[in-house]
Amino acid sequence: MEPMLFSVLTIFPEFLSSPLCEGIIRKAQDEEKIRIEISNIREFARDRQATTDDRPYGGGEGMVMKPEPLAAAVQRVHRDHPGNKRVILLSPQGTMFNQSVAERLSREHHLVLVCGRYEGVDERFRSNYVEEEISIGDFILTGGELAAMVVIDSVTRLIPGVLGCSDSATKDSLSRNLLKHPQFTRPRTFENLEVPADLLSGDHKRIDQFRFLASVRRTLHRRPDLIRSSTFSDAEMKLLRKYGLDREILAIRNKDGRP
Ligand code: SAM
Repeated sequence: MEPMLFSVLTIFPEFLSSPLCEGIIRKAQDEEKIRIEISNIREFARDRQATTDDRPYGGGEGMVMKPEPLAAAVQRVHRDHPGNKRVILLSPQGTMFNQSVAERLSREHHLVLVCGRYEGVDERFRSNYVEEEISIGDFILTGGELAAMVVIDSVTRLIPGVLGCSDSATKDSLSRNLLKHPQFTRPRTFENLEVPADLLSGDHKRIDQFRFLASVRRTLHRRPDLIRSSTFSDAEMKLLRKYGLDREILAIRNKDGRP
């Protein structure tokens, strides 16, 4: 299978080099599950000073990224890689990034991630070249590089074969609108706190039930918004009823007008 390609367009290529050279992202590149190409937008500037920003028309604070170098950088990617791709601008004004967006993007062959800086990019570049805008949260970063890194990291671990254990990603928090159950490792006692007896029982059914109930309780407590759209099998519903958790879930859904 062809590796998934990430093309990152940035004025600070060095910013990304270290995080992309460690851990699973490094291994995914070594094993040719993904390829990451970083282009310096400055190299597409037209003047000798390699200017990539200018003052905003109409006045006001800050600088705006000029459209021509950005457009030329995207055109180069199209020329070098004529196949299907998705051009994404990292922007606090974009669609909120979450696990289901990561899953959708992991099915693409090639993502082009454009990192803004300063006050953002010229609107005409956005309208002519950008297919999607993605925000990683309701806060303002100094640039899109960290956001691009977040997208690359979370999408890469969903690509088949990237994680050692094939179903790790399917058991993550959020993969079925539930937070993951709490986890324990050795020692058995830590500062007077014991590992729950169910996990020491060696009985897989009992362990699965314990984890499922802990996961539902944790989601109810911390992220009731998620539980509104989680779905449960008949066997899971039976277990939820046994511990009265079905009523708690129903109460949250009813509050939201959802049966
Ligand atoms: N003035 C812009 C606004 O109010 O929308 C914010 C510009 S921000 C200082 C500079 C760049 O950082 C943006 O162009 C974008 O690429 C990136 N950025 C900032 N916050 C982000 C977020 N929450 N998600 C994704 N990218 C973000």
